[in-house]
Amino acid sequence: MLEQAQRVLKDIFGYDSFRGRQGAIIERVASGGDALVLMPTGGGKSLCFQVPALLRPGLAVVVSPLIALMDDQVATLEELGVAAASLNSTLSAEQQRDLAARIRRGEVKMLYLAPERLVQPRMLDFLRNLDIALFAIDEAHCVSQWGHDFRPEYLQLGQLAEQFPHVPRIALTATADKRTREEIVTRLHLQDAERFLSSFDRPNIFYRIVPKENPRKQLMTFLAERRSDAGIVYCLSRKKVDETAAFLCEQGFPALSYHAGLPADVRAQNQKRFLNEEGLIMVATIAFGMGIDKPNVRFVAHMDLPKSLEAYYQETGRGGRDGLPADAWMAYGLQDVLMLKQMLQNSEGDERHKRVEQHKLDAMLALCEETRCRRQALLAYFDEDMPKPCGHCDNCIDGVQTWDATEPARQALSAIFRTGQRYGVGHLVDVLLGKDTEKVRNFGHEKLSVFGVGKARGEHEWRSLFRQLVARGLADVDLDGYGGLRLSDTCRPLLRGEVTLLLRLEPKPQKGAGTTRSGSGSPASQLVRAEERDQWEALRTLRRKLAEEHSVPPYVIFPDSTLLEMLRSQPGSMAEMAQVSGVGARKLDRYGEAFLAVLNGGAEEAPRAVADIRHELISLARAGMTPAQIAGQLQCSEKNVYTLLAEAIGQQQLSLEQALDLPEDLMGEVQDAFLDGEGELPPVTDVAPLFAGRVPEGVLYCVRAALQSEFEM
Ligand code: ADP
Ligand code: ZN
Repeated sequence: MLEQAQRVLKDIFGYDSFRGRQGAIIERVASGGDALVLMPTGGGKSLCFQVPALLRPGLAVVVSPLIALMDDQVATLEELGVAAASLNSTLSAEQQRDLAARIRRGEVKMLYLAPERLVQPRMLDFLRNLDIALFAIDEAHCVSQWGHDFRPEYLQLGQLAEQFPHVPRIALTATADKRTREEIVTRLHLQDAERFLSSFDRPNIFYRIVPKENPRKQLMTFLAERRSDAGIVYCLSRKKVDETAAFLCEQGFPALSYHAGLPADVRAQNQKRFLNEEGLIMVATIAFGMGIDKPNVRFVAHMDLPKSLEAYYQETGRGGRDGLPADAWMAYGLQDVLMLKQMLQNSEGDERHKRVEQHKLDAMLALCEETRCRRQALLAYFDEDMPKPCGHCDNCIDGVQTWDATEPARQALSAIFRTGQRYGVGHLVDVLLGKDTEKVRNFGHEKLSVFGVGKARGEHEWRSLFRQLVARGLADVDLDGYGGLRLSDTCRPLLRGEVTLLLRLEPKPQKGAGTTRSGSGSPASQLVRAEERDQWEALRTLRRKLAEEHSVPPYVIFPDSTLLEMLRSQPGSMAEMAQVSGVGARKLDRYGEAFLAVLNGGAEEAPRAVADIRHELISLARAGMTPAQIAGQLQCSEKNVYTLLAEAIGQQQLSLEQALDLPEDLMGEVQDAFLDGEGELPPVTDVAPLFAGRVPEGVLYCVRAALQSEFEM
């Protein structure tokens, strides 16, 4: 059995060996047993049911909660030459009849559908008359009422056990906690399922958490090392999402936004572009994520603190599904803590619920202030023991220095107490530094014993100290008042001098945009080396072209990991190409030659480069960048940018509004100038003198191209 499975793995999927427990899972299901699979994102769950589906006779039925997920998998399977289809509401009645006929004739191997579809009596009747290879229930945690992805339709899937007693069922999820696991078993009647529990570590993700100083600048520094990588930037509020996306575009980073306040079509459009185009940054609230299967998300940046480690793990986990290096980066500061505590305070729910949420937030804060390995701490929270520090997080790489903060912490707490437990950090720091401010004088705080006792330290150090005191629960925030600090019960031993306090030693804030410890660098911030860039881009361009021809996302043609292996192993023949991981028989047949040609210095190099620039230029323009910004980004002249823009407009790949940022009346004036005469549009040279010094000549070419394409329609 395993031998056959190996053959399918190599021939169809192009992979050499199973990962983790895949082999055992496949053996179990292929031989007719049930399985419960808990595996982290990117662990390779799909193969666990796709391979047995190919090994067993009959139709494999796959339940999935989202159309987007289904479409993605179906497209991927079709590219591999596997007959897969999805049955969903976007199909017309006729298409559905067609599909049913194909299924009856045994022409479909894998059928994807939503749970509510599957449990319709007609559907069940239909399936009962067929040979069924297996049922796979993806995202099985949707059956849990405690989780945030609960789908009532999933509850009905339990009946499959009785209705199809001889068909093996496999349930899969990336949600690890015990409670969810038990719920899956009972509700889906999987008591006889063998359980396959993997480690939830995501070894390819590099974790870094930095103190928030100038968050936008810090983000830019982080992004600067990751140009042309796709990634997600999470913000807490819709407003901040919009502002951050606009800011990034201004700075030359192609960014889109996503939050629940955007119209549904804009959201759908942005999501689609993020999946289909390369190198886009999605700035989003947590509304963005579920069902994002894009494998080559190279970074996830948090501009605000998530409210629990569960959320942090899930959000950062959207990076690096393909197993290649990815970065989880977060900037966090006192303001985050205040904001989340405030939200918690104002949230609905009983006291017990709030206490649970408070504990979750505390665990998140503890990770931020962690002085040991971040990964060990993160996994420990999920009850997983990691014996050694990981060597792949900021704390492991940089080494965290601690310092004895006992004395200054007592001074800080004393400042809170002496000023009456009602002031915010700004004023408290002024008091400690002995500053002569109006507020100090008004309240007579210059007379306090703590006034000026902290002059030996800088303002930055004091602020960081207060943040850590709050994060560790030694000081509380008065949320009913104005966010002033007060003492908490747990600080007594410290005040009495009974315990000492060790805190993270933080680097001084950076002047300029260096990328040192407080910055962003991870050992893996660059996937390819400088000398490999050209060929890497050529491979990606070919992939993009093929993806467009086949109307699928680029990663469906080949994942980055496969392109990277081509780049590194430099196959020189079709036989060698077949050895590359991810190149199965079908893809070898379809694409092998083309990629070989690129690797062996194909003659098309030059035109391809232009095509590449054009594609990127269109993305940038759509993302709202001006021609000048695009020129900066692509490092070419503005004149060239205008020429390419005009071309794209002429081919209706871009609208005039997307390409140019011209006041409306001026735009009208330019258009009128072209339309004044009779018949043919006048050449740009005729119109140019009217606008000399007012608009760049390139603008005229763009407008003319737009008018021209309108006439041709
Ligand atoms: P999950 O559903 O668990 O998040 P996927 O099934 O999408 O993960 O797999 C993640 C990536 O890993 C995909 O690109 C997949 O093709 C690849 N992959 C899975 N199993 C293997 C394997 N045995 N060898 C190489 N690549 C694999
Ligand atoms: Zn570590």
